[in-house]
Amino acid sequence: MKDEHKGGLSRRGFLKALGLGGASLAASAAALPARALAAQEEVRTLPGQELATLHDLSRCVGCGACVEACRESNGFKYPEPQKPFPEMYPPRVKAEDWSEKRDVDDRLTPYNWLFLQSAEVEQDGETYEINIPRRCMHCQNPPCANLCPWGAAGREKNGIVRINDQVCLGGSKCKSVCPWHIPQRQTGVGLYLDILPRFAGNGVMYKCDRCHQLVAEGQAPACVSACPYDVQTIGPREEIVQKAHELAESMNGYIYGEHENGGTNTLYVSPVPFDKLHAALKDSQQIDSKKGRPGLEPFPDMMSAEENMAEAALIAPFAGIAAGLVAAGRAMFGRGEASGRSGAPGEGPANNESRDKEGGHED
Ligand code: SF4
Ligand code: SF4
Ligand code: SF4
Repeated sequence: MKDEHKGGLSRRGFLKALGLGGASLAASAAALPARALAAQEEVRTLPGQELATLHDLSRCVGCGACVEACRESNGFKYPEPQKPFPEMYPPRVKAEDWSEKRDVDDRLTPYNWLFLQSAEVEQDGETYEINIPRRCMHCQNPPCANLCPWGAAGREKNGIVRINDQVCLGGSKCKSVCPWHIPQRQTGVGLYLDILPRFAGNGVMYKCDRCHQLVAEGQAPACVSACPYDVQTIGPREEIVQKAHELAESMNGYIYGEHENGGTNTLYVSPVPFDKLHAALKDSQQIDSKKGRPGLEPFPDMMSAEENMAEAALIAPFAGIAAGLVAAGRAMFGRGEASGRSGAPGEGPANNESRDKEGGHED
């Protein structure tokens, strides 16, 4: 947007303004989630419009209340793997086990769908410490959902992109085609154990599902409600885009997510340019997208690439059949009960506008 900033608040400046030192911040942060979770925000929707979120990065102090709230609200969806894991063929397919490392919070894992990155950036003679909550961007045209042959991932009409843990075989195609490589695999869980324990994918892929169960009841996602500093706003996309522009204008700032990967339903507004933020994160080794630490690159629309369009067209007629077969397998092997997790085949994300492919052995 503009060349220089006026607004924006560094964490240091913010804490100074609040009169909080490091110790008092830690103490107050510990008390924040319970307090904030008590007041669940509502979501306003408009017919025919996707829901989008806006992160005002000038307000985020990195307290972690959103991360805690995500875990508290979504813990019932986390995998409980069976061990020992079946040995995979070919053996190059590695087991991925995060079940003994559930506390890891400096990256995305199947047990941590949201984490914080922090970067110190010089801009126009001022130092900004910017904290960035990172999770799935909920793309408008998501390659993860468009390129799964099993129909395990999909995009709902309200813009939520989610993976059906009852159908996913853990092949991680969704991760390899996602520009940010967001979904994370846990081995030893899911349908592959029953149907092809040595040859199918290798577990189930997990990521932020935008607290779909709360949104379905008209409530805001847990991370939105929990934030004591109102960093996030959720609403119909057109309004959110307009708000993002107004906010960016007010702080002479910058927007990320409006056009990246063809447009996402997660918009960030920052008082410093995103290429500077990306460079600072990279310098401090906080970016490794293959290891659950996404960057902030200006990605083009991945689904406009010729090979992806061709692959999606090839998959589309078969994805429904695959989902049906998987559903039949699920019923046969006694996994027919609704898990209350990510939805069932034939409903929820599996039968949406977008298709996703679960190739198996992608990693
Ligand atoms: S988004 Fe809000 S809750 Fe999350 S770290 Fe930033 S200030 Fe804390
Ligand atoms: S492509 Fe990646 S960021 Fe976009 S919806 Fe899928 S997992 Fe999320
Ligand atoms: S929207 Fe829900 S699932 Fe996604 S990061 Fe926020 S709390 Fe976690």
